[in-house]
Amino acid sequence: MTTQHTDYDAIAIGAGFAGLALIHYLREAGLSIRVFDKAADIGGTWTWNRYPGAMTDSESYYYCLTFSRELLQEWSWTRRYPDWKETHNYFHFVADKCDMWPHIQLNTEIVSADYQQDSAHWLITTAAGDTFTCKYFISGMGMISEPVIPKIKGMDTFKGPLFHSSRWPQEDLDYAGKRVGIIGAGATTVQMLPVMAKTAKSVTVFHRTPNFILPAMQQPMTPEWEKEIKENYDEIVTKCRNHIFGMAFDTAEGRKAVETSPEERQRIFEEKWTGSFRWVFETFEDLLSDPEANKMASQFIIDKMKERIEDPAIAEILVPKLEDYPLFAKRPPLDHGYLEAYSRDNVHLIDIKDREPIVEITETGVRTTENHYEFDIIVLATGFKAYTGALEAFPIRGVSGQTLREKWQQQSKSIMGVCVADFPNMFIVTGPQAPFANLPTSIEQNVIWITNCIKKMESEGYDVVSPRQEAEDEWTAHTAEIHNQTLMAEGDKVNSWMMGANLEDKAPRVLIYFGGANNYYDRMDESANQGYPELEFEKRTG
Ligand code: NAP
Repeated sequence: MTTQHTDYDAIAIGAGFAGLALIHYLREAGLSIRVFDKAADIGGTWTWNRYPGAMTDSESYYYCLTFSRELLQEWSWTRRYPDWKETHNYFHFVADKCDMWPHIQLNTEIVSADYQQDSAHWLITTAAGDTFTCKYFISGMGMISEPVIPKIKGMDTFKGPLFHSSRWPQEDLDYAGKRVGIIGAGATTVQMLPVMAKTAKSVTVFHRTPNFILPAMQQPMTPEWEKEIKENYDEIVTKCRNHIFGMAFDTAEGRKAVETSPEERQRIFEEKWTGSFRWVFETFEDLLSDPEANKMASQFIIDKMKERIEDPAIAEILVPKLEDYPLFAKRPPLDHGYLEAYSRDNVHLIDIKDREPIVEITETGVRTTENHYEFDIIVLATGFKAYTGALEAFPIRGVSGQTLREKWQQQSKSIMGVCVADFPNMFIVTGPQAPFANLPTSIEQNVIWITNCIKKMESEGYDVVSPRQEAEDEWTAHTAEIHNQTLMAEGDKVNSWMMGANLEDKAPRVLIYFGGANNYYDRMDESANQGYPELEFEKRTG
């Protein structure tokens, strides 16, 4: 075996939740770790997504790391959903309190990662040309981080600022009194519009596919609520671990919408209409599995949306029709006044799907087939290359020299979203074919699995851990089988990022394990308890 020295035991990319969790768990296991991030600050998503109104859609008290009871007790959230600034403060609190800064290197873009067959090490190269070696290479780059930049004619001719919503200028762009055009109307625009509309001269949204929009119902964190949370944190953490979406929600107690009388169903739908995704999971258990139940829920949301939109012509564009697609085939946004914002005189909605498609971007605005709209600022709120985008943005080369991007041309295969065949000693936190769930819960579960695997490597003297091809084939087939039984499989009809159906250069595919995050976490525990049968461990001698 080669005993070449490495710069670090582990190198991770991404100083968001994953990076901080990796620092905690790997450092505790006695490893040296360096976390690189191209951003100027820690926080991942919450450093990049600084658009007005950027806010979590998970409730604050379980959208956090749980490895330290002390952190959970000492940090105080100010409201039900924290905005990016509060989450940013939370990241600093964790990094300061746990003395994580020495492990973090910001302003450092990684441009390649290459597995070295001879040494079984990874060679990581930065944009500045610096190189670092490590035994374990870990992606903490996030599953919704690489933006989709649409190809619109004339985009480079626009004279004013034009940028993707997730690349909001860090110097904080002043949009007060300006005319703003927003292309795209997903979860980002739903958060951004009502805040921008308050001070911008005008905001014009270019809209394609309607969304099922659920209310967020923001609330301040009262002392009584905080006390209750802090007294019950163990239970909250366990609830997340055992929930199908990793959220601290109650169950629907075996209730099925299709088996409930219309009056009682309506009563339960109304009673639980208290904000967040809770409504989907705490009303009835068949909303995402039974097409009839899904239609009942969809109709309820449609009616609620229509009640809040003053102008029927606007409602016609914004509100989905029952026959369009099932609830959750597209990820529903949470709303903080989005629908009401369209009642303002300075907010305009343009239907670019059926009425006036965009033709080009000009020096001064956006030209559709019908009109030319003048803007000072254009925001592309056009979504993300989910799950695979960040991993394909620069070459990550495995044993064969093939990059992840090349490997994933047809299918984005993995073992539980954490390992990929042909890429030894490499781990991904929430990669393709992991669940879509409350991210800090999934991230921490993944990091625990990865850390325990690395501990086994180190304590038993292994040099190489290689994901088995047959395990990858098995997980991919299992994930596809489950996916095809769900209503989410209809996401390809409506460009859902949950299937990569929003990408022009790739066919839609299975990207998410929909068998329940709780079942997925069980499966990970089982794998660890059985000594990681999906992986082959090797000692190099001589
Ligand atoms: P998105 O939901 O994918 O929405 C993108 C929007 O851009 C859609 O309206 C899409 O229309 C439109 N679009 C894409 N390409 C276009 C083109 N070439 N021309 C015109 N319109 C185009 O993206 P997002 O709003 O950024 O949200 C993505 C995900 O990020 C969310 O679902 C969520 O998981 C996460 N997110 C989370 C939070 C939070 O938790 N607080 C906040 C924001 C985002 P079509 O639908 O017709 O394709």
